[in-house]
Amino acid sequence: MIDDMLRTPEAIRDAERWTAHNYHPLPVVITSAEGCWLTDVDGRRYLDCLAGYSALNFGHRHPTLIAAAHAQLDRLTLTSRAFVHDQFADFCRELAELCGKDLVLPMNTGAEAVETGIKVARKWGYQVKGVAPGRANIVVAEGNFHGRTTTIVSFSTDADARADFGPYTPGFTVVPYGDLAALTAAIDENTVAVLIEPIQGEQGVVVPPEGYLPGVRRVCTEQDVLFIADEIQSGLGRTGATFACDHEGVVPDMYLLGKALGGGIVPVSAVAADADVLGVLRPGQHGSTFGGNPLACAVATEVVRLLATGEFQRRSAELGDRLHAGLRSLLGRGLVAVRGRGLWAGLDIDPTLMSGREACERLAERGVLAKDTHGATIRLAPPLVITEAEIDHAVAQLAAVLAG
Ligand SMILES: *Cc1c(COP(=O)(O)O)cnc(C)c1O
Repeated sequence: MIDDMLRTPEAIRDAERWTAHNYHPLPVVITSAEGCWLTDVDGRRYLDCLAGYSALNFGHRHPTLIAAAHAQLDRLTLTSRAFVHDQFADFCRELAELCGKDLVLPMNTGAEAVETGIKVARKWGYQVKGVAPGRANIVVAEGNFHGRTTTIVSFSTDADARADFGPYTPGFTVVPYGDLAALTAAIDENTVAVLIEPIQGEQGVVVPPEGYLPGVRRVCTEQDVLFIADEIQSGLGRTGATFACDHEGVVPDMYLLGKALGGGIVPVSAVAADADVLGVLRPGQHGSTFGGNPLACAVATEVVRLLATGEFQRRSAELGDRLHAGLRSLLGRGLVAVRGRGLWAGLDIDPTLMSGREACERLAERGVLAKDTHGATIRLAPPLVITEAEIDHAVAQLAAVLAG
């Protein structure tokens, strides 16, 4: 087909003409999708190995989730929290049960869940721990990614994410990720929380050393500090368990959830914690017009039910072994490192071969979509409904790209 018969170039030109350039997407224009497969405006098909940064853990348009959305669209979509609606209690109860926590506070985006966690931790610090007014501090990790609000980028260590967005919100101490001694040393009487990702997704699927998470749990308990686990990307089946913390038998005081919670249909995020923590919020102190709306709850309740079967966690663990074995076979053949857990992998490409961006562009030409994060690092996070054959296909295409 000659180039000017394709719809893709014009669609990209139009998109660039009318939007802020805060993303640098791969040059594909998607028009429909099902399961693990995407179709672009020119009819080309792609295997989705990003899954919306884990917002699509159940694949595109999972039938159960789509049916729940359709049914809810025909009954009730929004009330605001000024009134209670009939989808609210089931969602909150079932998610609280999945998390093993007393209470849930629903929001919309991941960043809002993080902001909620920060606000709750500070209030808890003043009201329960007895921190002096205005002195609450939260310990975070280098290389973190927790979202894009002004407060959250204040404690980012990524120059692009942070530069020129100040003045920055105070009250955060950054320590190296995976270093328990540094974290312990950073805690003092004003520390209200440790906020970390149990696996750092954006940083390149960085798994902390074994024993780190249990160590964080122990130190937080000893020092009367809340352990907040940002499981927005690592949670809900991605790593082969419901939560990445589960792999080390760790239970944080607060789970921050998002991405896959909305089933790839609507933005749904949540904070889950026990009553002694989330109970510090009283009416008027926090909220969201769309948080916990009926459509979101109807979809997210079905997400929680899919997870309650354990099937997706199992698939992720089993198929993840296959994915990682395939990727490890490329070490020394274009890959210099492979990290991750379950159906989640960070790959470092030999930087003398090509950049991560170039690898992703070449993968796209071969019908596999993935995304680079930093430099020569690519993240793979396919929908958990991917099959063995599809994994083998993705690995084969990567091998071909790396072979030049
Ligand atoms: C994506 C992400 C967020 C932010 O979520 P948004 O919905 O984009 O605001 C926060 N924390 C982690 C670990 C994430 O991966």
